[in-house]
Amino acid sequence: MLEVQNIEKSFDRTPVLKDISFSLEKGQALAIIGSSGSGKTTLLRCLNFLERPDKGKIIVQGETLFDAQDASSIKEKDIRMKRLHFGMVFQAFHLFPQYTALQNVMLARQLLEKGKPGFKENKKKIYEEIETEAKELLDKMGLSDRMEHYPHQLSGGQQQRVAIARALALKPDILCFDEPTSALDPELTGEVLKVIRSLADQNMTMVIVTHEMAFARDVADQVIFMDSGVIVEQGDARQVIENPQEERTRQFLSRFS
Ligand code: ATP
Repeated sequence: MLEVQNIEKSFDRTPVLKDISFSLEKGQALAIIGSSGSGKTTLLRCLNFLERPDKGKIIVQGETLFDAQDASSIKEKDIRMKRLHFGMVFQAFHLFPQYTALQNVMLARQLLEKGKPGFKENKKKIYEEIETEAKELLDKMGLSDRMEHYPHQLSGGQQQRVAIARALALKPDILCFDEPTSALDPELTGEVLKVIRSLADQNMTMVIVTHEMAFARDVADQVIFMDSGVIVEQGDARQVIENPQEERTRQFLSRFS
């Protein structure tokens, strides 16, 4: 489903990602762990074309979405289409404050559909479909009684669940999370992790940057441990977290026990 090959990225000549390669099967969840500054967010941003790698390839379902060798010829419009393969859920929820939960979930889909041929003729039907699907997603997130609420009327955990519904509304192949619970109070973390766990149970393909080690062990199929821009260790989630082979991984994990 996802193949990342030899990604390299520097900022101002400082290497931040060095020869990153991994692959992920459809329906699997991959957790990326590592200390602050190890390059986890930059890696997710490269997947989502928010950053362009200096070297390497990104392949989704056999299609090369990015090849640094011909990156200069990629147009902004193409990037927007390629980005649709990946849904993104950020640490800070980034909801639009002036829109309700339901509107936040519907908006990106509406914009996407507007650009397609035949939209004008079928606008009413398409908008109705988008609304029905958005309501279903919010319902799945346990937010059926919060659809008309504005972000400031929602808890952090509820806002993050709206953000997850919004990402799912675009039907991505791969859902990416960047520390989805680190802006939340501990009592709200559980409700968001529960939603991600249920997505894993439904075989959503996911890449999750997280500091929740027990969650990574229990929910992810694979774990990647990063340090200073390199993958130090990768493998079966339980194996890496419970029985790491590398000293650096052991040291990192000992901070959580
Ligand atoms: P955290 O857990 O704190 O979010 P991280 O593992 O996600 O950290 P990154 O945010 O990917 O790490 O950052 C990796 C390195 O790249 C850091 O040293 C950071 O300062 C640097 N970096 C990230 N983005 C930029 C940028 N746009 N310009 C310059 N340096 C950057």
